[in-house]
Amino acid sequence: MLKLSSDEHIHDPLADPAPGSRTEVKTTTCYMCACRCGIRVYLRDGEVRYIDGNPEHPINKGVICAKGSSGIMKQHSPARLTQPLLRKSGSERGAGEFEPISWDRALGILTERLAKIRATDPKKFALFTGRDQMQALTGMFARQFGTPNYAAHGGFCSVNMAAGMIYTIGGSFWEFGGPDLDRARLFVMIGTAEDHHSNPLKIALSKFKRSGGRFISINPVRTGYSAIADEWIPIKPGTDGALFMALLHELLRTERIDHAFLKRFTNAPQLVNLESGAEEGTFVFDPAAGPRGDGREPHNKFVWDKHAQRAVPHYVVNGDTRANANHDPDADPALEGEYRLPDGTRVAPAFQLLRERVASYTPEWAAEITGIPALRIKRLAQELADVAFNQAFTLPIAWTDAFGAKHDEVIGRPVAFHAMRGLAAHSNGFQTVRALAVLMSVLGTIDRPGGFLHKAPYPRHIVPNYRTVHSAAQVQPNTPLPAAPLGFPAHPEELALEDDGSPIRIDKGFSWEHPLSAHGVMHNVITNAVKGDPYRLDTLLIFMANMAWNSTMNTMAVRDMLNAKDEQGEYKLPFLVVCDAFQSEMVAFADLVLPDTTYLERHDALSMLDRPISEFDGPCDSVRVPVVAPQGQCRPFQDVLVDLATQLKLPAFLNADGSRKYKDYADLVVRYEHRPGIGFLMGWRGADGSKSIKGEPNPDQWQMYAQNNCVFHYQLPEHMRYMRNWNRDYLDFAMDMAFRQKNDAVQLALYSDVLQFFRLAAQGKTQGRQPPERLRERVARYFDPLPFWYAPLEDEATDRSAYPLNAVTQRPMAMYHSWDSQNAWLRQIHSHNYLFVNPLTARAAGVADGGWAWVESQWGKVRCMVRTSEATEPGTVWTWNAIGKGKGAWKLAPDADESRKGFLLNHLISEELPFGDNGRISNSDPITGQAGWYDVRVRLRPVAAHEAEESSPQVRAAAPLPGVMQGVRDVVRFFAGRKS
Ligand code: SF4
Repeated sequence: MLKLSSDEHIHDPLADPAPGSRTEVKTTTCYMCACRCGIRVYLRDGEVRYIDGNPEHPINKGVICAKGSSGIMKQHSPARLTQPLLRKSGSERGAGEFEPISWDRALGILTERLAKIRATDPKKFALFTGRDQMQALTGMFARQFGTPNYAAHGGFCSVNMAAGMIYTIGGSFWEFGGPDLDRARLFVMIGTAEDHHSNPLKIALSKFKRSGGRFISINPVRTGYSAIADEWIPIKPGTDGALFMALLHELLRTERIDHAFLKRFTNAPQLVNLESGAEEGTFVFDPAAGPRGDGREPHNKFVWDKHAQRAVPHYVVNGDTRANANHDPDADPALEGEYRLPDGTRVAPAFQLLRERVASYTPEWAAEITGIPALRIKRLAQELADVAFNQAFTLPIAWTDAFGAKHDEVIGRPVAFHAMRGLAAHSNGFQTVRALAVLMSVLGTIDRPGGFLHKAPYPRHIVPNYRTVHSAAQVQPNTPLPAAPLGFPAHPEELALEDDGSPIRIDKGFSWEHPLSAHGVMHNVITNAVKGDPYRLDTLLIFMANMAWNSTMNTMAVRDMLNAKDEQGEYKLPFLVVCDAFQSEMVAFADLVLPDTTYLERHDALSMLDRPISEFDGPCDSVRVPVVAPQGQCRPFQDVLVDLATQLKLPAFLNADGSRKYKDYADLVVRYEHRPGIGFLMGWRGADGSKSIKGEPNPDQWQMYAQNNCVFHYQLPEHMRYMRNWNRDYLDFAMDMAFRQKNDAVQLALYSDVLQFFRLAAQGKTQGRQPPERLRERVARYFDPLPFWYAPLEDEATDRSAYPLNAVTQRPMAMYHSWDSQNAWLRQIHSHNYLFVNPLTARAAGVADGGWAWVESQWGKVRCMVRTSEATEPGTVWTWNAIGKGKGAWKLAPDADESRKGFLLNHLISEELPFGDNGRISNSDPITGQAGWYDVRVRLRPVAAHEAEESSPQVRAAAPLPGVMQGVRDVVRFFAGRKS
């Protein structure tokens, strides 16, 4: 009998393991957050007893965090689902009444239903996933099924960061690139919490600080990494773009910019047509060198040569020997001025237009918006320039650029930035991120030592050569899509629109509402489907996303929507499938529950076809291998998808004779070839494993990864490690290895003619697709080819005097999303959250430190506990995200702190905003559809004396589910080292 509350020791940590017990150590990749550190898992008699960081792994070099080492408790989580469940006939969704069923029955139900949908209208099936790391497979499944309704979590995470940077410099932060802190002397971190690139960034920051680097943190809140910053500059949420524009103003005003870099490696000198009409604002081009490029190719733009006093090609593609500015040592492209072409067309270099744009964005103007004094903004601009130019250095590395010029050295500009969701999660985030990318470009810090460095397969084309479906005719019954469900539109003709201009996708991604929604608009799927706008779904499969709780805005209304019925008494969302390893709040709403494995129980490929773990010095991928057997009847979702695809006869999953092609996901990873020789994994290819990156499938590839720390790292020769947008040898290599489809240079897009094409369509100046009347003004306003700052859209819909505060969230270091409230160890760090408020703000609102308060937006209200903190900008309140839980979910006791004292800010945020005449539109960035999580405005008031000291709102307690694990008995058994 276990004694849960006695003084008796249940475990002697110093005692020898039982005689005869078997111990072993296996390596794999952590998934307690998305950073993908290498770990060593210590097993005794097949049970996980200890996890530490793998010193041989390039990402974390042995470092482990609290989450990573607590993976053991994920295995013993009381909230684990262990068998497929079917909602009991006649029971209500959300009541949590399920019957256990077999996998055969679960897959039978799903296959029958999906086969009917596929044979009639495939887009009635939608697959949306949370923070999954196998989008190469889930995307392939959706494409093969023939539904455009697929996306992962990026639309509500940081698509603004990805798209804003990729459309400007061809790469972005974190998985795509980052700061070179080995050589930087000044590091500016803005809008970053402590969750992205966690261990690697901690390691790099520690080294950077020890070597005397200066670290400035710009953030409304000083937590996490910012705690060790040399200087904290508080800023108001949603105003970062104003700061960047003012910094650009100062740098251009004082001419502290990298002229040579701008002329040769960016589109700054390229000539923009100033005549009104269909060509207005687009680059003039040479038709003899091909059709007008759309940002991808051909490279047929002109610059104004100041010596020759005429327009000349900026550069020409390989093999074309005509004179051009980047080849002719005498040419000197103009960055300023206005000129006339021989036919009289008025033109100006893009940089001239940028100069005019930033002229009015003075530090004094930005000070009013950001709350940062004008003098500090000026000093920051000086500091950036001083370090970039006065502390510049060179590395003796010879390289050749894409235009044929040989360079003896690589120039280093030791100013590095890092930015993340604090910039992205605003409805002005795309243009804000564009402004940051332009700022980095004028300082010349792109893919240079000490600045921002890409990670393979980046840089991509601007824009990348991936398009999604663009017409209704491309979505056909029983037919795979001719293009991937997600992509990067470069022109209105590439939007996913029906013939009448309405959205093809359920989330309205790639429509005129959010034309560049490269990661989808997941936060609107349920609302749209229930409203039938643009249409109703039949089946929604959600993998690893808690859409009934912390992964959705307007949580209580969305929970109601999941239960909403039509006049016939049928659910408006007819069939909901949830696949998860744990009993999240979402599970209660499922019609069918599929129990997934944990990360320690399955194969995963962190693949170049998806989001690899690449390092600055070369491409890098990694895997997970099962270190323990799955619990109960859990199955990896990947295997389930391969089974389902095979049963549905999706062509890529069948042999030519119609027989099953792949035994399971592990088999598919080894044998699937995206192109000949190119597969999911780069390491140990070729029949005997002797080839890298490219080679025939190797049947022993998994074993070779397992024997090599589950990671493959290809280190580029030194001459290919920098200036990769224009590095001849790297560009050739990248094309050869299928990282890119072409080997042409990636000129930085300070001026985006891609955005201008959308604006011209909205202004009715071009033929072809045009937005509906209600969206014309919106598209014309926000698709500005130059970065600009505008207030978040929610501001326009809010009385700011009534709701004077900004409210934001961030993830804590010890928990990732909602994943860890069932983790017995991590719960000891956080079991509930507080609203953090500056003492001045709390005093003004009459709220005491440690007291209860109401925080209200115009959309909802939350009762929570308050802590005062000087480390919070006075106009901002904030809390940790996803600590608050629904009663009984995650197998927590109904009176657990998480639900009694924890709370979600999501209740205050609407997934839609008023738009036009009584209309509504997604609360998102108008360009990318990125969720505007951090735009909400709130006010604070104390609770009345009679009110309960409990967070509000509360939900009814989730029922215990069949098949979940033993709970506390299992945890105690683990510590006691007992078998049963
Ligand atoms: S940072 Fe993330 S991936 Fe790395 S050990 Fe911690 S939880 Fe695991």
